[in-house]
Amino acid sequence: MHVAVIGAGLAGVCSAFELASAGHQVTVVERHAGVAAEGSFANGGLLAGAYTAAWQAPGLPTRLLAPVQSGGWGWQALRPSVWSPWWRQRQHRRSPRQAASRAALLALSRLSRARLDELTLRWSLAREQAEGLLVLLRTERELAQLRAGLDWLAEQGVAHHCVDAEGARAIEPGLSTEPGLHAALHFPGDAAANSRQFVHQLKTEAQALGVRWLFQHEVTGLAGAHGGGPLQLSLAGSREPVPPARAGAPVPLLSVDAVVLCAAQGAPALLQSLGVRLPAVVHSACSFTAPLRLEDGLLDLTPRAAILDQRQQISIARQGDRVRVAGGVRPGVQLGRPPAADMRRLYRVLDDWFPGAAHTSRSLEWCGPRLAVTDGLPLIGPSGVPGVWLNTAHGASGWTLACGAAQQLAAQISQQPAPVDPAPFALERLR
Ligand SMILES: Cc1cc2nc3c(=O)[nH]c(=O)nc-3n(C[C@H](O)[C@H](O)[C@H](O)COP(=O)(O)OP(=O)(O)OC[C@H]3O[C@@H](n4cnc5c(N)ncnc54)[C@H](O)[C@@H]3O)c2cc1C
Repeated sequence: MHVAVIGAGLAGVCSAFELASAGHQVTVVERHAGVAAEGSFANGGLLAGAYTAAWQAPGLPTRLLAPVQSGGWGWQALRPSVWSPWWRQRQHRRSPRQAASRAALLALSRLSRARLDELTLRWSLAREQAEGLLVLLRTERELAQLRAGLDWLAEQGVAHHCVDAEGARAIEPGLSTEPGLHAALHFPGDAAANSRQFVHQLKTEAQALGVRWLFQHEVTGLAGAHGGGPLQLSLAGSREPVPPARAGAPVPLLSVDAVVLCAAQGAPALLQSLGVRLPAVVHSACSFTAPLRLEDGLLDLTPRAAILDQRQQISIARQGDRVRVAGGVRPGVQLGRPPAADMRRLYRVLDDWFPGAAHTSRSLEWCGPRLAVTDGLPLIGPSGVPGVWLNTAHGASGWTLACGAAQQLAAQISQQPAPVDPAPFALERLR
């Protein structure tokens, strides 16, 4: 089967690879000149399956989404309560369906991690991985708010320890306790790793399997989906400059048997053109990456692995000899230059916990969008339109879930048994 994948971020590249591995002919269409150019460009790098399943999903309250569906944002989107740990704690007490969703998300993140490790080992891929996630808690109240999630993780057999400030410093010797560290949760099975490095290498492996890349092409429409025949993708040269050899040349329609939408913030418009409405929201977050101060002869007091400031929801992750700090959520699409106020918060958090650990005057700053749907789980599976499939809306967990989501999707398209229960990820659940 000839499958077109729309979008070459983490979801698109991983999907293309898995589909080609399953024997399909694959063409990836991407409006930018290379892979990982939008939401996947410089994410926080956390592979945080346990944390994501316990506290991040179901994530977004529906009242947040109403203004988006009607075309704009209301101020309620900015109310801190909706992003707070309190909200997540509350979610734990809700319906059995949400418990099933959390279990499915944990299963997907485990699948993802296993596949990521397998691929990394197979080709000795570099991804600057550092093992372990430490969640920093400033008060007993913050710890109490996570209690229900911790009990649930224990039931699921997820290794974790609660340590005091001294125990946290044994794991991260450079950690300052000055900001007032009450306790920390350590998840040895979670990690930090460089998704951009991985996705570039996976692209090369996918190409070796025959995947074709159509960069600088934007999909502007999909046709034929209801007729049963091949699907037609109309393409346009994208906003980036077209190379001189191709300028002015007619861009053909792409005719395929199936389409996978991995277009993140581009997905709602494409689906709408097919009559499918996505209850989705786009928000943006930012990051900076700075070289660590690794001076010969001095004790290394830089971050060792992944750290999350629970109150600020800002992550600190080691990536080789650099640190990546990420967080700060704003509604809407922001790509590239981050808001100065958000960056100040990120710098402050790094400086609070690891004072002087990085050359922040040499940091690279970035802001990127992420798409999420009402319940915070990704969309993986059929769209309801014949031949059109989804692997999108990964929200704040797209790196954690990328490899597993792609395997799940490839199995479903190939009519093989899905590795994880597909129901919690199906578009149907939102109807
Ligand atoms: C600041 C920040 C920090 C994050 N931290 C973490 C983290 O620590 N751990 C974690 O697991 N996740 C994290 N995430 C989330 C993760 O990065 C995303 O979920 C993931 O990158 C989404 O990948 P994607 O492929 O779905 O989307 P994208 O990477 O946005 O890719 C979509 C692609 O589709 C293309 N496209 C869209 N429409 C069209 C069209 N019509 N035609 C052609 N091409 C099109 C776009 O150009 C884009 O390249 C973070 C995200 C951000 C922004």
